[in-house]
Amino acid sequence: MAPKFFDKLFKREHKRSDYRFRPREFWANAIGISDSTCEIQGDPFNGWKLPIPAPEQSALKSRARQHDGQQTSWFFRLPMEVRRMIYIELMGNRRVHIEHSWMYQSAFQPKSKRGGKRWIWWHGVCQNSDSFVCDTYGDRCWGRDDESYASYTEGLTRAPPGTKIQGVEWLSYEEALPVLYGTNVFVPREGIDSPFIMSRLIPPTCAQLIRSVDFTFVFCWDLDLTPGAKAWTTVYPALFDILEQYFSKVHSLRLTIKLPAWEKMKQTMSDSKLNKIVAPWETLARNRDWKRLEFCVPLDWRSVFTKRAETQSIWELTVTDWFDWDVRSAGRGCGM
Ligand SMILES: [Zn+2]
Repeated sequence: MAPKFFDKLFKREHKRSDYRFRPREFWANAIGISDSTCEIQGDPFNGWKLPIPAPEQSALKSRARQHDGQQTSWFFRLPMEVRRMIYIELMGNRRVHIEHSWMYQSAFQPKSKRGGKRWIWWHGVCQNSDSFVCDTYGDRCWGRDDESYASYTEGLTRAPPGTKIQGVEWLSYEEALPVLYGTNVFVPREGIDSPFIMSRLIPPTCAQLIRSVDFTFVFCWDLDLTPGAKAWTTVYPALFDILEQYFSKVHSLRLTIKLPAWEKMKQTMSDSKLNKIVAPWETLARNRDWKRLEFCVPLDWRSVFTKRAETQSIWELTVTDWFDWDVRSAGRGCGM
């Protein structure tokens, strides 16, 4: 008995401690990016594999939405324009921070019996804006940590008014989905893994309704400083495949790329390297009619991209105040 017990204990401890070495969300080998880090109907408590639905599950879900007793409810006797106004009031025309990560439940999520980290969705309605903000870096509003803090310090048991999308129960009705997905600006949690995770979890029928997205990620390209750094050569182009195909109906997009300090990169930068960063973006820009298209880089990189930006009028070059302060450190980079 005893050896088995210790064996089990050791395995458990070993597994737990391994999580310290789990790829971070801003690394190119983050969980959820490559197929090998995902598992169909996997364990939500396993931080090493992103659980994803079976393809047939997504199809079943969207069929279920069409089988509601819509005609019998008073609500559905209202004209469609009125119903749409109600949906917008509850869940539309907002800037919404979203996240699907392996994390602890927030204080306001329904408690389950099992504790610990799990794969879970979180969202928070932006407290700064209903649309795009000048610089995502400055958009520090109500977040997941604030929920736990407010719960702990103020004894709140529910999210404060205005911080959550309302009327989630209406989402079982297919007609509410274009309002939720089509009128909000989605701000996925910062990290290169976010667009990949979204593409694996949100059914394509819903993704096709999304119109506005504000993506930000730390881009340690060409810096061999983080584990999986070499994966950037495949992950960066794959990001644009997702933007081209999965987010194909998006017409307003800002892509903020937090690059390592220019001071650190300028010695090794060449036209061909620069082209690898900008070319996929330029292709994306040409392939669609855009209402708003912003390529946002740190201030110290602006002059590097200015010439490319000035040769066209489809996308705008904008800057973030974010700066990689860790310029001189050899072992770390990208502000980590
Ligand atoms: Zn915000």
